[in-house]
Amino acid sequence: MTDAGERPLVNYHTHTWRCLHAEGTEEEYVRRAIDMGFSVLGFADHTPWPYESGYVSGMRMRLDQLRGYLDTVRALGERYADRIKIPVGLECEAFPQYMGWLSELKASSLDYVILGNHYDGRDDADHDAFSDGGGFYFGQCGEPAHVRRYAERTIAGMRTGLFDYVAHPDLYCHLYPRFDAECAAAAKDICAAAKALDIPLEYNLLGVQYHAREAGLGRLGYPCPRFWEIAAGQGCKAIIGFDAHRPEALERRDDYDRALAFLTGLGLEVLPFLDKPGLR
Ligand SMILES: [Zn+2]
Ligand SMILES: [Zn+2]
Repeated sequence: MTDAGERPLVNYHTHTWRCLHAEGTEEEYVRRAIDMGFSVLGFADHTPWPYESGYVSGMRMRLDQLRGYLDTVRALGERYADRIKIPVGLECEAFPQYMGWLSELKASSLDYVILGNHYDGRDDADHDAFSDGGGFYFGQCGEPAHVRRYAERTIAGMRTGLFDYVAHPDLYCHLYPRFDAECAAAAKDICAAAKALDIPLEYNLLGVQYHAREAGLGRLGYPCPRFWEIAAGQGCKAIIGFDAHRPEALERRDDYDRALAFLTGLGLEVLPFLDKPGLR
């Protein structure tokens, strides 16, 4: 199926003002999604973590804001239930020290979680030095060792069994200069794991915006076509995510249609929605 008009428009990757780098009220996103004909608008804001050090992150909600986030999205889900499905999730790294906490939270309060492997994390004694409280940002991979580490941490995250899809799996290409052997190996390993574990990979439309701005700066950028060629070769499933940080991001229907044509042209299966209870 290549005709975007035949498939429901869905997005499981919506942020809120709580992450400190997104704009608009939750209801503004919902109304925009309804206007644009979405059948599902899932919120997956950047998760808070129960930092043991008391670290305060600059790119995610605080732990004491979590309840308000969940209640706000749930209330909108009820108010607009006759017009759009609004599942509530979170976008999370796979910091080993907090996976137990996330597992309990998911079971009690979330419809889904997506793996956004932004920062390196290790189960070291000084936990928070390896979260975003000092861990390497994978959007700045600049040498092969960074790429290797990104692949290892992404695959470890997938293996937790917690994640419903992998957000921007090719984030490591963002500032990387060329698609070298390490980039290809990382793509092969990530895609092989996604195939084996049956976890969809997200084609990220926010990255498309960066790409448009940064073309010609000597960076691969993401989404990276070479990565998606490898994903197709491995038989992976794709899902398109808007990664909306402002309501207007949901208006990028042209980008969505181009992404769908590109992915299906490669022979990839592009999921029309996440096929789990509460998600469609
Ligand atoms: Zn964000
Ligand atoms: Zn992300």
